[in-house]
Amino acid sequence: MSELTRRGFAQAIAGAVCCAAQAQSSEPWAGDSIVDCHHHMRPSADSSIAHLDGVKISNALFLTRDNAAERVKAARQQYPGRFLGWFAATDITKPGAEDALTAAIKSGASGFGELKFHVEAAGPELRRMYALAAELGVPILIHFQEVPHTPTEGTFATGFKNFEAMLKAYPKTKFIGHADAFWANISADYANEAAYPAGKIKRGGVTDKLLGDYPNLYGDLSANSGNNALSRDPEFTPGFLERHQDKLIYGSDCSCSDGKGGGISQGNNPPAARMAGKCVARETLTVLKASASPKVFRKLVWENAHKTYALKA
Ligand SMILES: [Zn+2]
Ligand SMILES: [Zn+2]
Repeated sequence: MSELTRRGFAQAIAGAVCCAAQAQSSEPWAGDSIVDCHHHMRPSADSSIAHLDGVKISNALFLTRDNAAERVKAARQQYPGRFLGWFAATDITKPGAEDALTAAIKSGASGFGELKFHVEAAGPELRRMYALAAELGVPILIHFQEVPHTPTEGTFATGFKNFEAMLKAYPKTKFIGHADAFWANISADYANEAAYPAGKIKRGGVTDKLLGDYPNLYGDLSANSGNNALSRDPEFTPGFLERHQDKLIYGSDCSCSDGKGGGISQGNNPPAARMAGKCVARETLTVLKASASPKVFRKLVWENAHKTYALKA
């Protein structure tokens, strides 16, 4: 063996040891403080904890109904320190929505959401909520979707391409963008043709631009939509996370049972088949850990949530 070969061989061995060790740790984030800010409240606190523990996530923020204060309190008592608060949703197309959401905030909710309704993003129902969120000083989480996942599903908060007008009209509202249309518009060539477009991202997308231009817009990284946007063009992702490192908030929107892909992770959603058998929470943490510096990773999974949402242990 020549000296050169010997050195190459030694390096190869070292490389194999390093990577075998890394592969063994399938949760390189274990031990970090991480809050899942898109955790739909489950039938029991135990099932929420099963998901958090399965992924090795320390904390969650519940998304639930406006009248959930007592259930949230019970969950927080059962697992002290794990659930950092909750967002409240109610049917905003019905009269009384403003009263219901105001009452939820008074009973301890930290924000509105997620609001997922068959209305226009610039329509009267959501405009009332934008104004109310500003008045109460709480963030509002909106599901934007232009392409139905099933023949009967319909669309939600449509018209994201023109959302700049809302950001201008409600400068005191803290908007949290989420779901298909928010993330598909990360690419400048999106024309509402698919729920989850694939392939290279064309620079200058509406979402990238609005996050850069408007201090009142934030991005929720959850669901197949967020994961798809971060996975489709690996050359794009590190720069995007770096650019918006103070505006992006980690969440999973995962409904798998065990934090390992058991059960169904994206229910009722055939176009999200890429997540079949996978845990979205885990998949997105893997992308973030690989694409962001440790400092930026901590912002995305912990600090930004604490700055943007009023979380309490
Ligand atoms: Zn959603
Ligand atoms: Zn999961």
